[in-house]
Order: sequence, then C-alpha cells, then structure tokens
Amino acid sequence: MATKDNKDEYIIVEQTWNVPFRHYAGEITSRYLKEFRDNKKIMGRRCPKCKRVLIPARKNCERCFTETDEWIEVNDEGKLVTFSINCIKYVGMPDPPYIMGLIRLDGADTDILHYIKGIDLSDVDKAGRELKIGTRMKAVWKEVRVGNVTDIDYFMPTV
Ligand SMILES: [Zn+2]
Repeated sequence: MATKDNKDEYIIVEQTWNVPFRHYAGEITSRYLKEFRDNKKIMGRRCPKCKRVLIPARKNCERCFTETDEWIEVNDEGKLVTFSINCIKYVGMPDPPYIMGLIRLDGADTDILHYIKGIDLSDVDKAGRELKIGTRMKAVWKEVRVGNVTDIDYFMPTV
C-alpha cells in the first residue's frame, strides 16, 4: 500500500521471459520416455534400500540418497491423490478451467502429475465438490507419441 511519502510503495515491473532450451534427458529419463513413445508403458525405478518404486523414473532415491537399480513396469491406472482446478490463464498452459492432479499409479510409490479430463467443468465449484480423492484414473495415450510426458494426453476417470 502506498503511503503519503510513497516510501513503502511497491513498484510492479512487467516483463516477459522467453527462454527456449534443449538438453539431454539423461540415461534413466531417456528410457522412461522411450517406453512412453514406443510401448505406451510407464516404467519406474526401484530403490534397493527402501524398496519404493519411483515415478517418474530417476537415478537416485531422494529419500535414501541411493541409486535405483531395477526397472519396474507400473500400471497406467491408479487413484487420484489430489487435484487442483485452475481458473487462471498461465503462459504455455491450456485455457482455463482445467484440472491438474496427482495420480498414484498401481505399483508405484510416488505420484505422477498430469491433466485430468472427463470432468464437467461448466460449474467448477460443483466439479470440485464432486471429484473425489481416490477416484480411479486411467491414462489416455496420444496416437502419435514423441517421447515426452505429454505422450499421455491426460488421465480420466475409469467409470
Ligand atoms: Zn529409497
């Protein structure tokens, strides 16, 4: 809030950043994404210490600081852990409203973040009340896949 002498006035600087970049995904993430592209499979990595199956596949368990050592296929279905209905337009994101959710895939011990579709969003308050944690969700794969997390187009309820 501005004061009489403007000493506490906040100055808003508007800018637009456009920072395109490319990088090698690394050995583990490359395999993870190739399985998306070539086989419509979701492969996790098991930690030898805590035995958790980590999604997305990664080289190290963030809990144990141990290298993962085994590929484990998980189901492309699971349960909705949490979600958010986004009603604000963000650069690079779909037109609102849309739902982002965390899904615990069958066989995984961590969650995948993705779009949730198949929910009527004409009344977002109602949708928020009706969409339940624990709802069974299934991946809907794109027909043309390129080796990206967006090869899964979205998740939707199984019923
Ligand atoms: Zn671990």
